[in-house]
Amino acid sequence: MNFNELGLNARMVARLDALGLTQPSPIQKEAIPQALQGCDILGIAQTGTGKTAAFGIPLIMALSKRQERPVPRSARGLVLAPTRELASQIFQSLRGLTKDLRITLVVGGKSINAQTEKLARGTDILVATPGRLIDLMDRGSIDLGQTRFLVLDEADQMLDIGFIHALRRIAARLSTDRQTMMFSATMPKAMAELSRQYLDKPIRIEISPPGKVADKVAHSVHFVAKNEKQDLLTRLLDGHRDDRALVFSRTKHGAERLKKHLERAGFAAASIHGNKSQGQRDRAIAAFKAGSVRVLSATDVAARGIDTPGVGHVYNYDLPNVPENYVHRIGRTARAGNSGRAIAFCAADEVTDLKAIEKLLGTRVETAGGRPWDAVTDAPQKKRRPRRRSAGRQDRMAA
Ligand code: AMP
Repeated sequence: MNFNELGLNARMVARLDALGLTQPSPIQKEAIPQALQGCDILGIAQTGTGKTAAFGIPLIMALSKRQERPVPRSARGLVLAPTRELASQIFQSLRGLTKDLRITLVVGGKSINAQTEKLARGTDILVATPGRLIDLMDRGSIDLGQTRFLVLDEADQMLDIGFIHALRRIAARLSTDRQTMMFSATMPKAMAELSRQYLDKPIRIEISPPGKVADKVAHSVHFVAKNEKQDLLTRLLDGHRDDRALVFSRTKHGAERLKKHLERAGFAAASIHGNKSQGQRDRAIAAFKAGSVRVLSATDVAARGIDTPGVGHVYNYDLPNVPENYVHRIGRTARAGNSGRAIAFCAADEVTDLKAIEKLLGTRVETAGGRPWDAVTDAPQKKRRPRRRSAGRQDRMAA
């Protein structure tokens, strides 16, 4: 099947062709015809499945067909994304899909005055993070009363980041006469509630069951003491120096510490996390994409929206304590049909996190190194009274 069988106009087919896109991905095949009919859509799909075009194509076609011009300080369509990186990724993708519509990006970390000025003329599509959008609404820089199209992308992440209050305030300003498309990689209970609030008789499209990671990813876990993780990572990275790898830590400090360690070990490394300015994050991602940085050390939030083909390895240096985040992290590899490896490091105090991930995946993650902690029967802390030691030292003893 190709794109012109989905009801697209010749102009859009030609644009897609110029971008090298000829065959719709499964989510595009399902979502585009329904969205063109004006239906609300609930899409359950991971990043890397082509979901941006799945909502972008019908959004652009609907707005172009109406041939209206945006009135000042208004947006005809609104796309909300949880992070600056994802919002800017969506913005770039939409700009690739049309040259005829005005598309505006508003995210935190950039000058709000410049954004206010841009919005003064009105825009066809506004791509925003919820926090900055609320600030602009409060200043009277944007009125959503004219907005007839709403897209919520990676909605489960918006819930995690605590945007629920912001979403409620935004929704209250939108016209009820609108088409809404909501996308999420996972479908926790809170998401089902959110979808009931936002969507009107949605068509549910599920590309892979919630929580199921791309089949092309090979998962493995190393059982390793906390204080041995750095050495293990260096050793494994050494085995594929030419490949790009993304390494996830749980904390900002952890991500920064790791980047410094990797640099000392001779790797071209960079880090992205909440303590970095927007400019620093953009530069790190650009260098990673260009290949001058081979290892990117990241926290969950900062890594949302990284769309870099050819990330062969994703390391879960620390396991996420929200199992759904494992799915998101893995979504960074095996994008658009490439295969990838997901390598987890599990220290003694992360066994419950691993179990939660395996439960969500519905499968056991293959052991690549070390012995599962629950198989270690002579764990010293069970026999002796623990002395005051760092957690890392206790882990090494348990190993
Ligand atoms: P997304 O899931 O929207 O983040 O898209 C992931 C990647 O897939 C992006 O790099 C897109 O350019 C690419 N992509 C989107 N649609 C298609 C398609 N129909 N064929 C091939 N690649 C695609």
